[in-house]
Amino acid sequence: MTGGTPVVDPADMALRALARVNLAAIERNCALIRREIGADVALCAAVKANGYGHGAVQSARAAVAGGATWLAVATGGEAAELRAARLDARLIVLGALAPEELDEALDADADVVAWNERFVEQLATAAGARAAATAAPPIRVHLKLDVGMGRLGTRDADELLRVADRVAAAPGLELAGAMTHFPCADEDVALTRGQLAAFTAFGERLRAAHPGVLLHAANSAAALALPESRLDLVRCGIAVYGLSPWEDDATAHGLEPALELRSWVAALKPLAAGETVGYGARFRAQAPTWIATLPIGYGDGVRRGWERDGVALLGGRRRPLVGRVSMDNVTVDVGPEPGVALGDPAILIGAAGEERLTAEEVARRLGTINYEVVTALSARVVRAYHRDGAPA
Ligand SMILES: *Cc1c(COP(=O)(O)O)cnc(C)c1O
Repeated sequence: MTGGTPVVDPADMALRALARVNLAAIERNCALIRREIGADVALCAAVKANGYGHGAVQSARAAVAGGATWLAVATGGEAAELRAARLDARLIVLGALAPEELDEALDADADVVAWNERFVEQLATAAGARAAATAAPPIRVHLKLDVGMGRLGTRDADELLRVADRVAAAPGLELAGAMTHFPCADEDVALTRGQLAAFTAFGERLRAAHPGVLLHAANSAAALALPESRLDLVRCGIAVYGLSPWEDDATAHGLEPALELRSWVAALKPLAAGETVGYGARFRAQAPTWIATLPIGYGDGVRRGWERDGVALLGGRRRPLVGRVSMDNVTVDVGPEPGVALGDPAILIGAAGEERLTAEEVARRLGTINYEVVTALSARVVRAYHRDGAPA
């Protein structure tokens, strides 16, 4: 079994919606990023949203094996899940933390992100309460400067320097880092350079007062394409999973897609001209054909939008999805001479022989991005882990 060959494991075929995840690919993707960024830059693997749909804990383990020393999540609950799995890495919660979520993040000993006095006061209060209860480690805080994303963080560098002083002065808080996040690293390098300059100017002022603070800004696109943005640490998500931040062919960048999404042919029936398929009778056969039903639907993350231009690989060939995507099933037109049998595997993302159906192509057909395609895979999809086809 080698990298690109599909795994046809009969034991898997009765699983209606199966995501096969190659942990060795995640490990190699991290090793590739590590080689690109060099020994002086740390790799933080983003495993938020259930590891971009791949499974948070398993993906995190593979990322750490590939050289990641930090793991990034978006919520307190995600940090708790990783900490419970005893991963040997520093955790950071990138997202905004509601007061109710804060303890969960801090119990997981995760670093947190702050940009205003109000949240820093909450942190200082939490640190006081925790110090009274136990010999708690300091709460490690990263400041966030907004250089153009317009979501979290402050645009006011002076204000952020005041927040930095407050963090540094508060007992129980440690000023660990400062960060920003680029809105267009994948599409506009010139704009991103300017935003990086704004951040590094702030970083210099910050370090003049608080030496040793870590600076980080780069996501996958910046880490791979804009070396000067790497600073002390890069935060890579999409590339870790072998998907392209530019929505092009990931393998052209040396990345290996880790995830394959498959189902099986649960029903195969002839359709006469004029007969219809699916809710709303949206597909009506123009000529006699065969319809294969795959027991995977929008309840699994195959969005209804796949109806418009979706394809699946059956019998080693691309076949169009027809009719509405339902919650638990999709229907595929396999033509008058199907060359497909009941029980055959069907691939919705992945490879079959020479044919490849990438998350990037699925995204293009759906009018979205690969990030959303894989993150949409729901809890109902069984994740099966392997290493290049061997049991993980
Ligand atoms: C998710 C996230 C990343 C990772 O982005 P990719 O494009 O997947 O590499 C980096 N930084 C922040 C703040 C994020 O939320």
